[in-house]
Amino acid sequence: MAILIAGATKCSLCQQVIEADHEVMMFPAFIPEHHRLYRYSDASLHQACYQRCADHDELEDLLERYWKVYDQRPMPPPEAAKNFDAWYNNSKEVKIWQQQLAAFWERNS
Ligand SMILES: [Zn+2]
Repeated sequence: MAILIAGATKCSLCQQVIEADHEVMMFPAFIPEHHRLYRYSDASLHQACYQRCADHDELEDLLERYWKVYDQRPMPPPEAAKNFDAWYNNSKEVKIWQQQLAAFWERNS
């Protein structure tokens, strides 16, 4: 998820500093670099700027569908969780999920 420091972080759309009392939209780092909407990945925006931006509806749809794929990510069994990296790097279920995620971005690029 994007890091927001009120009084320092700038809105990715209007480039104005986001203050503590501003309503914000924060995106996770979810869009691959080659995607045309990549600039929104890991971005913080004023809610008002986001609401009126031309990409709003597409981003809402993309994010909603992305979460459905993300939510299917496999989780390690308890004994494997102790060595998460080894499990993650060698898990067949993780490889399948990564392929599903890659296919999602192929369909949505
Ligand atoms: Zn803004």
